[in-house]
Amino acid sequence: SAISDLILSVDGVTIDYSGFKALDGFSMRLNRGETRVVIGPNGAGKSTLCDTIIGRVRPSTGRVIFKGEEIHRLPEQAIVARGICRKFQAPGVLPTLSVRDNLALAARRDRRWWKSLGTGIPADERAAVDEALESVGLTHRATVEAGTLAHGEKQWLEIAMVMATGAELLLLDEPTAGMGPAETSRTAELILGLGHSRTVLVIDHDMSFVEQLAAPVTVMHQGKFLKQGSVAEVRADPEVAAVYLGH
Ligand code: ADP
Ligand code: MG
Repeated sequence: SAISDLILSVDGVTIDYSGFKALDGFSMRLNRGETRVVIGPNGAGKSTLCDTIIGRVRPSTGRVIFKGEEIHRLPEQAIVARGICRKFQAPGVLPTLSVRDNLALAARRDRRWWKSLGTGIPADERAAVDEALESVGLTHRATVEAGTLAHGEKQWLEIAMVMATGAELLLLDEPTAGMGPAETSRTAELILGLGHSRTVLVIDHDMSFVEQLAAPVTVMHQGKFLKQGSVAEVRADPEVAAVYLGH
């Protein structure tokens, strides 16, 4: 049923920065296993939406409900523990650790991360790490220092880290930032490769990437919901065109 399929509900959320509303009564819903793309001009509030879902900023009005539970007053760690993980816009891997150890840290959700260094990754975590490595095509790079990876590979490592956490809801804020067309296509493939095993909210402004994802698109503008539809529908929409041109 529609109720049991619902995993996330952002319901009339306002984020107020001393009078400036980065989100202004914004609402959206995600079903379990869905991939959704959020677009909108610079400053539309897309990253603030991620900040809100992960508990980094607090709504002055509205609610965020994850798996039937209000989460918008919980600390970020408690939200992460409930199964939401966010990839930041800028790459944030630990450069002197190996690719595998970066993933082992990510898989270690109880945060006793030092135990995963060098020795003794538990079998279930090792499986999650190997699976994540495989799905982003970095198996052959497992033992190199993460700092030596190319820019695109670092982005994929970060996406793999989000996957390795086992979180049900993945928030990917501009995963193709700084990538060329070939790397962008590879990123689309790996998100598509997740199938319906995760719920994924992707923020991006690269329309060729959005087209490759072929997922429903939510358009934001000035902290508000503007439109929702297929890529073709939002592309053909005059209101959407106007907010991009007007910027
Ligand atoms: P987007 O990711 O869509 O480009 P953001 O969510 O980063 O937009 O920002 C939305 C608006 O909120 C922007 O105008 C930005 O300047 C403003 N903003 C974001 N964070 C803060 C903050 N900590 N304090 C004040 N204004 C902020
Ligand atoms: Mg942003």
